[in-house]
Amino acid sequence: MPQIIDGKAISAQIKDEVKERVAELAAQGKKVCLAVIQVGNDPASSVYVGNKKKACAYVGMESLAYELAEETTQEALLDLIRELNAKEEVNGILVQLPLPKHIDEDEVIRAIDPKKDVDGFHPQSVGALCIGQPGFVSCTPAGIIQLLKRSGIEIAGKECVVIGRSNIVGKPMALLLLRENGTVTVCHSRTKDLKEVTKRADILVAAVGKPKMITREYVKEGAVVIDVGIHRNENNKLCGDVDYEDVAPVCSAITPVPGGVGPMTIAMLMYNCANSVSR
Ligand code: NAD
Repeated sequence: MPQIIDGKAISAQIKDEVKERVAELAAQGKKVCLAVIQVGNDPASSVYVGNKKKACAYVGMESLAYELAEETTQEALLDLIRELNAKEEVNGILVQLPLPKHIDEDEVIRAIDPKKDVDGFHPQSVGALCIGQPGFVSCTPAGIIQLLKRSGIEIAGKECVVIGRSNIVGKPMALLLLRENGTVTVCHSRTKDLKEVTKRADILVAAVGKPKMITREYVKEGAVVIDVGIHRNENNKLCGDVDYEDVAPVCSAITPVPGGVGPMTIAMLMYNCANSVSR
């Protein structure tokens, strides 16, 4: 049987480390504060925002919640971001995505002060990651690196294949694996013969957004398989991009859904926030 990579346990460990760091900062008279902005009331976003508030409370950070109406104008949202950029007591600013259609997400992300860009989506943060300079890193891929490292999985010199090239998962994931000295290939919807490429992977990261698409035909025997996907099936049960039952018997390690990559995203958000204080 493969090693089951336990995202619940590893994320709890990271949150406890952050809690200690926040207490140390408090002892030096420094508070940590995250501002979370939600526009509209998309139910999934409300759940994510609620979980972020709970995580802040757990690690001892303050959180400011801004729940804005669906019809909020882009200018009003940008004004709020500018106000939070200027507030010294706010260390991190997070705008919950997706935003309503009338708001330009790129412009909103660009408005966040890169020193407070705890989601790591600002072009300056992405650029810093690309050229190996310090900066915030997108939480989900940063969490995956922690999962691998804390599970004793070596990345250096390994063939790493990432399926998906989104700005929030696939691309930063590829850059992080490269930073860890992996040999990295990125696949996407236009990749020819996907299976032929994914079968080369020692470490396969599926961020494709298609339920259970990755079956054992895509996986080399003994590979490490990381499943980023989150979907609800017809019975309202969570599943990933990987067909877990089919793939688990042939791989050496795998993340389950739920309890794999999912819990890492918020843990890394807390980590980024605590780190923003000393910047
Ligand atoms: P996305 O839709 O933005 O990107 C999907 C990528 O997959 C695209 O780059 C596309 O080129 C590629 N793709 C689509 N079909 C393909 C195919 N048939 N063959 C090869 N490549 C194909 O999605 P995303 O935002 O990167 O998210 C990916 C998945 O991860 C989703 O299921 C999402 O819900 C999940 N997700 C989870 C977390 C978490 O915290 N666990 C965070 C973000 C996203």
